[in-house]
Amino acid sequence: MPFIREKCNFCGDCLFKCNYLDLTRDQSIKEMKNLIESRDSFILSECVTCYACNEYCKEDANPFDLIAELQEEHNSLGISQENKNKLEKTFEPYEFTKDVQVKGPLMSQCAFLFSHKQFFRGKLFDDLTLIGGRSVFCNLIYLHSAQYSLIEARASMIVKNIERVLENFEKKELICFHDECYAFYTKYAPELGVEVNFKVIHLFEYLYNYLKEHRAQIKKLNIKIAYQRSCSTRLTPEKDHFLDELLDLIGAKKVDRQYSGENALCCQAPLLDFLNKTDLARKKQKINIQDALNARAEAMVFICPTCYDTLKQMCMKYNLRPIFITDLCRIALGEIE
Ligand code: SF4
Ligand code: SF4
Repeated sequence: MPFIREKCNFCGDCLFKCNYLDLTRDQSIKEMKNLIESRDSFILSECVTCYACNEYCKEDANPFDLIAELQEEHNSLGISQENKNKLEKTFEPYEFTKDVQVKGPLMSQCAFLFSHKQFFRGKLFDDLTLIGGRSVFCNLIYLHSAQYSLIEARASMIVKNIERVLENFEKKELICFHDECYAFYTKYAPELGVEVNFKVIHLFEYLYNYLKEHRAQIKKLNIKIAYQRSCSTRLTPEKDHFLDELLDLIGAKKVDRQYSGENALCCQAPLLDFLNKTDLARKKQKINIQDALNARAEAMVFICPTCYDTLKQMCMKYNLRPIFITDLCRIALGEIE
């Protein structure tokens, strides 16, 4: 999504509220001006690519996209060209030409189709047609690696691949398992000028509707949970009400805590996987988990498989049960414990 210069009123909120920078309001305004006018600032190397400033900005100016674009221009994240080349190849999309056997509504499992099979089990998925892999991978991962331009270069092929699969479906609808894909199809692709001619449904909406239809099978969980937002949830907060309604249906209560909602901390995967900031990542993870425990959460619930993988061990170490959102629904349906 491009940064929209005309919408920026230099309020400074985006950098002032950042959980990784320690700036005064005046410094935040000054650095925002530097980013816009001189297209440079120390912010570019300090930013850990958590996407949160796009949500902090109430003018919808997309400040993180300005930062991400400039991080590519200046190669600010210290990622070697060799690693960038590898990463560029790893998720390179190709034209999808296979025939897909239509079973039920189409769900894209992004890059997690094979790596996280455990999250696609049970009745929730029995009647769906599942696709995944490189041909439909949304490519927003490149927001973390100073390779912003790859998203625009690949957007059209990814959308066309989905449209090709949907040719055999009566309803032109795509359910996105991965939150990041939802942001890609509903925000990035259209704002990059790529038409999306199908309805996009978020996993939360799908799960909520399924549970509503199977209400009689739900056993209320009476559990207090901390919800771990993923970075991409910052891009489409408008669908979060489905999560709240879903949690209500199954008797799970989000605890009130310091690092929730807009002030949430990310799982720290970018710091560990790309930025070589292990100490900072571990420090923030502990703060996040301690915050959940202080608020008496019994479990940490995840929407993103990468967040789950990144925080799982530390959650278990501190007796905070990590649960992926689909598993939480399956527990409520009596399928697993
Ligand atoms: S990008 Fe948004 S939050 Fe940042 S200074 Fe501009 S208007 Fe304020
Ligand atoms: S993306 Fe996150 S770390 Fe980077 S400036 Fe925005 S809020 Fe701060």
